[in-house]
Amino acid sequence: MSALVEKRAGRSLAARKALKVDLTGKVAFVAGVADTYSYGFGIARELANAGATVVFGTWPPVLKIFERTLKKKGDDFKLDDGSEMEIGKVYPLDAVFDTPEDVPEEIKTNKRYAGVGGYTIQEVVDQVKADYGKVDILVHSLANGPEVTKPLLDTSRKGYLAASSASAYSMVSMVSRFGPLMPVGGSVVSLSYIASERVVPGYGGGMSSAKSQLESDTRTLAFEAGRRYGIRVNTISAGPLKSRAASAIGGDGDKTFIERAIDYTRNNAPLNKVDCSPQNVGSAAFCLLTDLMSAVTGITLYVDSGLHAMGQTLDSPAFEGIAPPEFKGKEDKDLVPR
Ligand code: NAD
Repeated sequence: MSALVEKRAGRSLAARKALKVDLTGKVAFVAGVADTYSYGFGIARELANAGATVVFGTWPPVLKIFERTLKKKGDDFKLDDGSEMEIGKVYPLDAVFDTPEDVPEEIKTNKRYAGVGGYTIQEVVDQVKADYGKVDILVHSLANGPEVTKPLLDTSRKGYLAASSASAYSMVSMVSRFGPLMPVGGSVVSLSYIASERVVPGYGGGMSSAKSQLESDTRTLAFEAGRRYGIRVNTISAGPLKSRAASAIGGDGDKTFIERAIDYTRNNAPLNKVDCSPQNVGSAAFCLLTDLMSAVTGITLYVDSGLHAMGQTLDSPAFEGIAPPEFKGKEDKDLVPR
């Protein structure tokens, strides 16, 4: 190591002020969290690490499960300094409804929605406004496609539009309704998937279409909300994570869709030893959501171990007998942890 590199390496964290972000006093609303092993929770944890007040929007049918997790807390809630992550309020949120007039009778009378209070997007915005007065950071980490296991060819109009409503329009509505509460410099991030632009067999029901919409809307919302409110809008195209939602996509009886997607990434991605995790998607989102990326808006950022860059699969039978390039000179244990 050169003398200069050695001197720099010895400096304290405080000396590297350029990359320190203090989110004390900032309010982050993270929509679509019911589970700690999820992208939304990973992002929330990074924001809490930097001092943000994190509040959640949780789908009423899974609200009780999440409340139980919150009561127990546990290791997932430990922040980097050893302290426990504090959660602001958890709002019931069903992002397919904008106002109470949109809620159909069968939902109003559904026992999973009974007594949870106002859960439409506008009602949640009004509650957050009354409780916190503003939202600096908005995270959209939710998706739903009732016919996700069906090929697009077999998807009904109803299923297709439901996927689009829950997974894409929900983002438009949230930016439109939270926008007036967001100070200049505020930032929004959503979660997309490579099926928006490349064929991923098994990701059906119009979910691929909904993710394309989400990415296209990210660009238009970046322009419109940038001009109207001075806020930024970006999306992350994340690699596979065995979350609750992803595990529900189905499978072939042997392995689930998401298990095969993870195997595929490990076999074919440039960074085949680095899985996508709530932590590494969380830290990428952190950059997009803070002043570290204050001039970045309208982008789809790939956080997928580089898989999007590949034009050929290494594990194709076409390459049988040819060893794929191996990482040289280090033990597996020295590589970036999963
Ligand atoms: P997750 O199950 O933790 O999150 C999905 C959340 O959406 C759940 O909490 C669910 O309750 C919520 N939700 C569903 N319908 C809703 C509605 N109408 N209103 C409010 N909330 C609703 O799973 P995740 O994989 O962390 O998903 C988060 C985001 O990441 C999703 O947009 C997903 O498409 C995206 N994503 C996931 C993967 C992956 O492999 N897991 C890859 C790329 C992108």
